[in-house]
Amino acid sequence: MTWDIVIHRGLLIDGSGSQGTIADIALAAGRIAAIGPSLPREASKVIDAEGLAVTPGFIDIKTHSDFVLPINPKAESKVRQGVTTEIIGHCGFSVAPVLPGKTQLLADYLSGGAPWLPFREMGFSEYLDTFPAVAVNTGMLVGHNTLRLMVMGLEDRAPTKTELEQMIALLEDGLRAGALGMSSGLFTPPGSFATPDEMMAFCAVLKRHNAAYFTHIRDEANRVMEAVDEAIDIARACGIHVQIVHLKCSGVDNWGKVEQVLDKIAAARSEGCDIDCDAYPYAAGANPLKNLLPPWVQIGGNEAMLARLRLPETRARIRAELADHGLNNWGRIPSWGAVQISISPHRPETAGQTVAALARAQSCDPIDQISDHLITDNGATRVLITSISEDDIRTIVRSPTALVGSDGNCVATYAVVNQGLPHPRFYGTFPRILGRYVRDERLIPLEQAVYKMTGGPAKALKMCDRGLLKVGYRADIAIFDPNDFRDEATYESPHRYPSGGRTTVIVNGTVVVENARHTGATPGTVLRRATNGSVG
Ligand SMILES: [Zn+2]
Repeated sequence: MTWDIVIHRGLLIDGSGSQGTIADIALAAGRIAAIGPSLPREASKVIDAEGLAVTPGFIDIKTHSDFVLPINPKAESKVRQGVTTEIIGHCGFSVAPVLPGKTQLLADYLSGGAPWLPFREMGFSEYLDTFPAVAVNTGMLVGHNTLRLMVMGLEDRAPTKTELEQMIALLEDGLRAGALGMSSGLFTPPGSFATPDEMMAFCAVLKRHNAAYFTHIRDEANRVMEAVDEAIDIARACGIHVQIVHLKCSGVDNWGKVEQVLDKIAAARSEGCDIDCDAYPYAAGANPLKNLLPPWVQIGGNEAMLARLRLPETRARIRAELADHGLNNWGRIPSWGAVQISISPHRPETAGQTVAALARAQSCDPIDQISDHLITDNGATRVLITSISEDDIRTIVRSPTALVGSDGNCVATYAVVNQGLPHPRFYGTFPRILGRYVRDERLIPLEQAVYKMTGGPAKALKMCDRGLLKVGYRADIAIFDPNDFRDEATYESPHRYPSGGRTTVIVNGTVVVENARHTGATPGTVLRRATNGSVG
């Protein structure tokens, strides 16, 4: 018997939450072939894992890497964290389907998140079929905002019967092609223009296809409780899996509410709802700048927004509404010092500066500063917003069930994806949990943290053969030194890979990272949902 790879004497943490044990693991033909206390070293490659943890590859259940994978297929900032699978198309934003004549509309709409991606007309099945070879496995979602944009543009109204049927037809195309489900972005136009009833209509379709619903809830700030209730209502009424993504309670008025939110979710689960949540371990969020403004600013699309932002009366109305209840979706911030430019295509020199500092330097009001900045950038400015409480982050990290999702893109320390100052979560989410919160602060045991990155998300996603170290499962493996695996990326200097010279990552049986060096391999596959709902 000869195997492809034997990993020798590692601390095997199987992803179920069970305690780790020292053992060997053998891989063959892309799958886990054997696990035992002392396997023969009969393999083309033997990896000495003495002193290292060996876990299932991390499943990043919440990312926007669809905006970068086609131009950065090696996925460095993710695979170097141990990530082997990314779920993409979140927050209502998917790069397909694109109907004839609608390419520029979608490109403009997504420019704040995907400034470098070439867009093209395509249906969802073509998107899956032609997705390029990349280093990680990918599972795709159909974005509700994208569907609405294709059929209704940025109109603030309910769809007609025909429009709803058109959107549902597009969703079903995607589901038949193998999309894992639908994502919503109810915080920003045009998702914010959809009523809970409209979302129920889509979720009834998801139920018919055994597909899941992933939601960026309607409000993560002052009305976060009501927004969580809306998600739970869908889980209860439709009987589908609901994933509340990047859970947070944003804005100083809402700090401390996370405990209540987790209790609400736990209560729903105990009454039988299939609902999960995930979060990233950082106090700052990231978003296109335009999404901080009241939703009416974006009605009619990018050109209409830019024209509106030129008017003093628009700026006065924005100023009044923000003074009244804080930023859209982010709530009240202590000052404009909490908002920092991260990517500015036309004013790149402003990356890293706060809105407060820029307004001061230009002797203008912050609302004038951000309006002018958006106009200069054609709407594509991107910002970091520090609006989350550290205590709430710890509460989520400690929760045995709240999953880990980076909400980040795979980028790299070179080429076009090295531009600007992205959120450090792009580079640091997983090692930050393992280094800072598990090893340094001992908030939860290593095995439980690994579960929140592997077996937990695999269960939520109904994956049939990933997320556990189990014979017959796919050979997605992360190997790292638990005493030397920490995030190095900071807000000031985000383009830094994690520490750990012995990190090795295997995707579908192929080594992608070996001793912290990328091999150049791109063995990832597109995961598809079967008609019974299982994902493989
Ligand atoms: Zn989101």
